[in-house]
Amino acid sequence: MTPLEGALWLIRHGFPVFPCDHPGTERCSGIGRGHDPATCTDRGKHPCVPFTRAHTLDNDQMQSSIGGRLRNVGVAVGGCAGPDGARLLVVDSDRPGAIEDAAEAFGHRHTPTMRVTTAKGHHDYYWAPASTRLGNGLGALRGKFDGDVRSGNGYVIGPGSVHATGVVYELADPEQPPAVVPAWLLAALLAAPAHPAPAAAPTARKTPGRLAPLVRFVLESQSGDRNNRLYWAACRAFEQDGNPAPNVAGALLDAAAHVGLTEAEARQTITSAYRSRATR
Ligand SMILES: [Zn+2]
Repeated sequence: MTPLEGALWLIRHGFPVFPCDHPGTERCSGIGRGHDPATCTDRGKHPCVPFTRAHTLDNDQMQSSIGGRLRNVGVAVGGCAGPDGARLLVVDSDRPGAIEDAAEAFGHRHTPTMRVTTAKGHHDYYWAPASTRLGNGLGALRGKFDGDVRSGNGYVIGPGSVHATGVVYELADPEQPPAVVPAWLLAALLAAPAHPAPAAAPTARKTPGRLAPLVRFVLESQSGDRNNRLYWAACRAFEQDGNPAPNVAGALLDAAAHVGLTEAEARQTITSAYRSRATR
């Protein structure tokens, strides 16, 4: 499967898509404030368009933006609507079997669903009830699951895309649609983290180098200064060149969730930091 074939498959199955950077081009094709295509080293993952509004279910539009050039395909998670207005939730396992192990740790069996294999593990696509508001926080899964979740305004790289290692993202079974998210998983994601994980965990995993001290700064917050620290860290992060904006916001949101800020609070603070930078 090529990225274009993947995009057309996704469109046929109702998943809105958009073009992303492909590791085969000389420079990153990604956009975003704070993202420098010339120095970007996290290749093959960055959106080429403001994807939260510029995603599409139109074959022709995708043909013209991907066809004939090297582009990966992104899935606009927040743009997907399932049965009864269900929202898409993608569980991103950083190693094969990570979500299976997490299910077992919670006393359940993994619910098979639409799966895309990735360079490191797999993406599992689930439908979550329309009434739930999930973000990218792991809730009670934190520390018990090697991976991330994407919902709301998140995105994932779709099947047919090429990872920087050359691995192609593949549909495990093109006949398998997304299942309804199992109750245990939904409850775990909606729960507050039981115990804050050691501060080293999120910084060690996938934080870009220069962002790590800022993430640590947020993780060391006490309840009275969480927002101030997050604001300060976000301002510094957005001042640094070469940090792709999606990574900045994601890493800081994760750190904020760790210290108990709600996603809404954290987003507001990070957005304020963004704006202050723009007017400086
Ligand atoms: Zn990039």
